[in-house]
Formats: sequence, structure tokens, C-alpha cells
Amino acid sequence: MSTWVFAEEVNGHPSASALEMLTKARSLDGDVAAIYVGPGGDDAFAQLGAHGAQRVFHMAPGDELPAAAVAAALAELVAAHAPDLLLFGLAATDRDVAGRLSARLDRPVLSNAVDVSTDGGTVSVVNEILGGTTRVVTQVKADAPAIVVVRQKAFVAEPGDAATPEVVTVDLPATESSAIIVERHAEISEGPDLEAADIVVSGGRGLGAAEHFSLLDQLAELLGGAVGATRAVVDAGWVPYAMQVGQTGKTVKPNVYVACGISGAMQHLVGMKDSGTIIAINKDAEAPIFGVSDLGIVGDVHKVIPALVEALKARG
Ligand code: FAD
Repeated sequence: MSTWVFAEEVNGHPSASALEMLTKARSLDGDVAAIYVGPGGDDAFAQLGAHGAQRVFHMAPGDELPAAAVAAALAELVAAHAPDLLLFGLAATDRDVAGRLSARLDRPVLSNAVDVSTDGGTVSVVNEILGGTTRVVTQVKADAPAIVVVRQKAFVAEPGDAATPEVVTVDLPATESSAIIVERHAEISEGPDLEAADIVVSGGRGLGAAEHFSLLDQLAELLGGAVGATRAVVDAGWVPYAMQVGQTGKTVKPNVYVACGISGAMQHLVGMKDSGTIIAINKDAEAPIFGVSDLGIVGDVHKVIPALVEALKARG
């Protein structure tokens, strides 16, 4: 059994999802390799090694939009080495490469997986449907390799013993469809990263207006947390998409998730239901968010949040 994990470089490091998938891959039988796309370097390779990669296939696309060339090179590597399982994350490049590879190899892609297991040469993939209330296990019957796209935070990234992987440099072919990246835009945000934060305070339509998000900013700052949002308020233009939690936004798994004026639609729940402790503030006692919350406050966010802020300030 041989598992390969797609690992794109983000700010000089393997993506968080790559380290999560490598941790999972090393728990499966057999050997593990990473397909590393980016400038690379000893630190990045060491991180891949510590998380389970025994071998790294390194591709450096420079300023070229990577997917076309990477998928072409990856198809050749697959033909030469015959891995059994390829794991990709949900990031744009991951999905772009997985789709192109699927077409090149004529293999299906199983997407949105929350778990994967192997039994001999058979790969099984777990998906959650109906807002995470039902788990579906799919056994891959197609010829290897199985191509699986995994949700963020499906696994917890944990480094094992330090290990230096074998690094194989892979030249990328020239592709007719290649495009050049002309500008990169780094999103500037204050406070902790939403996906990495220990505490997330999220707001929904119940806040009433964009300016009321300043209440959440205050609360999050006092708690050392990050601010998230529902799609309803992102669509309304109150906050940027980068703050959206849920099916078509980010998946978060903080120790504490505070849902303020959020109804608890299943598309929101799939992005936060695995949080440690969920606290909901909603004026409607029947709101579905209370069905997943550990602590529920039935009340008006405009009264409850300022009171919380004052209480936290008073504690110093
Ligand atoms: P509402 O459902 O309108 O809920 C507002 C809540 O605020 C209500 O429960 C109300 O009782 C409460 N409230 C009102 N006033 C107050 C007050 N003063 N004090 C306290 N409580 C108050 N949604 C996401 O969040 N993330 C996604 O990624 C996402 N992806 C989607 C993908 C698809 C394909 C589709 C179809 C939908 C998706 N949605 C997503 C949208 C989702 O279905 C809901 O519409 C959305 O989550 C609702 O947002 P909300 O809870 O802010 O608003």
C-alpha cells in the first residue's frame, strides 16, 4: 500500500491540510510520499518528513499557474510508481490538480471526505451528508490509484519523530495551457487566523447590521479569538468571504465556538460542529443552533454581548 499526499507550499511551509493528511497517511499501512509544489527547502522537507513523508517528489512551478504542468508530471509519476491512494486537500490548486489528474488517468475523484481507511488494497472513504447527521462509507472499486479530496480539519496534524525524507526533484513539462501568475495578494488580517484560532466568535444575520460586528471584534479580542460569520452576512456584504464558516466557507475546530445571532442552518453547522464547546446566543429558543450547542443563551445579542464584554473587562 502506498499513499501520496498533495502538499502545496503556503508562505514557505507545507499547507496545514497537507500536514493533516500526512499524519493520517502514516497511520495507514504502507509507505507515504508527498507531492510538494513550491520553491521548497530543507525546513519544508523536514516538516513533511516529521509528519510522515518518507519520500518527497518536489515540483517547482515558479510563477506559472501550477495545475496543468503538475497534473501532467504527476500522471507520469503515477504510471512509473503505481501508488494506491492519492490524497488532496480542498484548496484551489489541490482541486485543480485532482480534477486534471482524474481526466488524465480516467479515475473517479471522491471529494469532501472526512475519513479514509484501507484494507489490503481496498480504499474506503467516509463522507458526511445532511449537515453531518449521516455518514456514508464508499468503497473504491475503480483501478488504483484512488483519488480522494479531503475536507480541512478532517484529521489532526501531529508531527512524529524527526525524519529526513528522500527528495526527488521532478521537472515540469511545458504545457500549452500554462498561465502566469502576475500578482499575489496577501490577505491582511488582525488577530489570530480563523482556522487556527482556539476561540472563534461568529456572527449571523441576528446582529442586524454590518457595524454591529464591532461587538464581536471586542469580544474576540478580549478572548484572544478570531471572528467568523455565516454566509448570509457575507452575501449581504457585511464582512468579507474570508470570514465565512461552513460548507462553502472555512471549516473550524476551535476549543470554543460562540455563535451569535446564527440560526444553525446545516450548511453552517458542517463548518463548526466539531468544535470543542459550542455556545449559542439567539433570541429564538427554537433555533436549530441550540440543538448542537453545549451552552445556550436565549436572548438578544445586543444585550448579551455587551454584558459579556463588560464582564470580561471587569475581570481584567
Ligand atoms: P438566519 O438563518 O436568518 O438566522 C438569523 C438568526 O438570528 C435567527 O435564528 C434569529 O432568531 C436570530 N436573531 C435575530 N435577531 C436576533 C437578536 N437580536 N439576538 C439574537 N438572535 C437574533 N451558510 C453558512 O453560514 N456557511 C456556508 O458555508 C453556507 N454554505 C451554503 C451553501 C449552499 C449550497 C446553500 C444553499 C446555503 C449555504 N449557506 C451557508 C446558507 C445557509 O443555508 C443559511 O442561509 C445561513 O447559514 C443563515 O445564516 P444566519 O444564521 O446568519 O441567518
